[in-house]
Parts: sequence; structure tokens; C-alpha cells
Amino acid sequence: MKFKLWERWKNGLVERFSWSVGVDLGTVNSWWMMPGKGVLWNDPSVVARRKKKKYYGMMAPNKSGGQIVAFGKQAKMMIGKEPAQLEIVYPLRNGVIADFEVTKEYIARYLELLGETPSRFPKLMKPRVVVGVPSGVTAVERRAVKVAFLEAGAGEVFLADEALLAAVGAGMPVESSAGMLVVDIGGGTTEIALVSLGGVVLSRCLPVAGEEMDQAVANFVKMKYGLLIGEPTAERVKIELGSVRKISKEEKVMVVRGRALDGGLPKSVRVNAEEVREALAPIVQKIVKELVALIEESPPELLGDVVKNGIALAGGGALLEGMAEMVEEETKMGAWVVPEPMGAVARGCQRLLEERELLEGVVFKGFSK
Ligand code: ADP
Ligand code: MG
Repeated sequence: MKFKLWERWKNGLVERFSWSVGVDLGTVNSWWMMPGKGVLWNDPSVVARRKKKKYYGMMAPNKSGGQIVAFGKQAKMMIGKEPAQLEIVYPLRNGVIADFEVTKEYIARYLELLGETPSRFPKLMKPRVVVGVPSGVTAVERRAVKVAFLEAGAGEVFLADEALLAAVGAGMPVESSAGMLVVDIGGGTTEIALVSLGGVVLSRCLPVAGEEMDQAVANFVKMKYGLLIGEPTAERVKIELGSVRKISKEEKVMVVRGRALDGGLPKSVRVNAEEVREALAPIVQKIVKELVALIEESPPELLGDVVKNGIALAGGGALLEGMAEMVEEETKMGAWVVPEPMGAVARGCQRLLEERELLEGVVFKGFSK
């Protein structure tokens, strides 16, 4: 009895001085949140750092380069304009860590910022972190995420499937036995997952998503108009004009500036929505094909529920005009875009942080530290 009281007192104290953080570590955007406070940062996952100098073909010691000079929004503004001594690094590619050291520093920087946010009790302990990872990643990649967080200053790391988080964020009852189908079209990867009883039953992850679409737009403009444009411009064109099917009567038009392929001088052309649709079509087709393949593999019991609930579309790619209609047509099932699709995973993470039972129900703790 005495011992139990001590335990309770100790646990209460630990609870008071410990703090939690939720992260959607996306290829394009990362969201950082805290329970009760909501999303504190939603920043591009980009870093600008000093180039390492090369001596006789070998890397120089760390001192002579590699320092990070800008993170997030500040670094994103530098893309395509960076001076010669700086380089832009994307810590994550296709949903997994591409550069471990940079990712670690990147995470450490945000954990530090989060640690400085005012709170009622001092943050004496290391934070407990809930991170979304793509369901398609291997155990090694999963471990890398966990280790990066631990080395960056986290005390405890919980990994959760991103597709599951997106479903939670969309307000779906993931702990129930009803099957739910979620498609998350992010920057680097598209994830398709069939979720039931707080876990992923079937999933597919393909390395085709927003960034591939940007490249398709850039290629199209290059082939058709002989105009070279950078990634940020291609992304703007996609967001401004991108659609999957013709919905509005009037097609939007946009003036795109770049460099002429022959001669290399500045040039501008008018691009319309139909052309962008044509450029995006092969990618959208790939995504839909994968979705249909997953549906064909799904257990019939769960499919019945999916027919009832519809297919939930999340991630930035879900914002493409006509995406839900296209999915409905190809799968012969209902489809809907979750509210604020880019923040769905982050919202799911937030809910897990605030509802302890949900966290225990849907997160696997992974391996020991
Ligand atoms: P990640 O989780 O991989 O960081 P997000 O879900 O945040 O990715 O989505 C980012 C992608 O969504 C980017 O490639 C971006 O270009 C794209 N995107 C954002 N808004 C739109 C839009 N309105 N239409 C089409 N694509 C969009
Ligand atoms: Mg994402």
C-alpha cells in the first residue's frame, strides 16, 4: 500500500514535469505540435548549410563547412538562389531520412525551440515524441527515425503509421473494427492504407507524389515551349492550374517565366489548365492504379465498410481539383477529401497526444531504447 502511494506520487510528479511533442516529419513540410497548444510550426523540411570544402578529393574536417545557416521557411526562400558557398539540403527524401546528420540537427533545432515555449511547469525532462512514419518504410528506416530523435534530445519516441494518423486526423474511428481506406498523396510518396482496429491491415507506398508532379510540369513546359523553369515555379503552376478532370467551364491560364532552352535568355509563355492536366495525367494514373490494386487485395469483410465510409484522401495532392471524382470513377466507390488535407497527419498526431487511450490503442512502441 505504502509502495503504491509512493508510485502514484512519483508518477504524478513525472507527469507534471514531462512534456510531449507531436511531429509529422514530411518530405516537403514538417509540422510540430504540443498537446493543448496545437500546431506551433509548419515549416518546409529544408536546410541551407555551408558547403564542405574539398581537399585533394577528400572531405575536409567538419570545421571547414557543414554548418547549418538556415532552416525551414528561410531556407526554402534560398532554393535556386543560393550563393556558391551554400548548399540546400533536404533532410528527407521519399518519406525517409536521406541525410542522417542533417536530420538530427534539424530535429534538435525544433526540439530546442519547442522546449523554449512557455509552460506552467518547467520542462525538466526530455520530451516524449510521437512521430508519423510512412507505412511502407523498412525496419532500418524506422529505426533511423527513432535514433535521430533520441540523439536530437527526445526522451521517448513513439512511431505511428502516417496513414493511420491521417485517418485519426480526419476524425475516423480507427480503433473500431470498421475498415477504412486512406490515400495520402504527399510530396515524396503516396501512401495507401487499409486501416482497421487501430492498425494497418494492408498498405502500399509508392514514390510518386507532389514532387514528381512538379517535375512533370517542368518537363512539359520544356518540351512544348522550350522553356526551362525551376522547381518552385513548376510547383506554383501545379498549385495554381493543377486539376485531374475538367470541372470548371473556363480553363485558367497563367504566365510562366523562365529561360529559353535555345539562347538561354529570359522568356515567358502562357500555360493553361488543360496542358497541366495532360502533364499530370500519367502520375495520377499511377496512383489510381495502385489504389485499385490494393482494393483488389483487400479482405471482403473490410471492403464492405469502405464502401459505406468512402475512400479518404489526404495530403497536399488531394487538393488537386477533381481528385475525389476521379477516384470515385475508377474505383466505383465513394471518395472524399478530408478537411485541410495537408494537416491531417498533424491533427491525428495532436489527437494521440491529447487522448492517452488512443495513443495506447494505435501506436506500437517499436524496439527498446
Ligand atoms: P509531405 O507530407 O510529404 O510533406 P504534404 O502532404 O505536405 O507532403 O504535401 C505537399 C505536396 O502537396 C507538395 O508537393 C505540394 O506541391 C503539394 N500541394 C500543395 N498544395 C497543392 C494544391 N493546391 N494542389 C496540388 N498539390 C498541392
Ligand atoms: Mg505527409
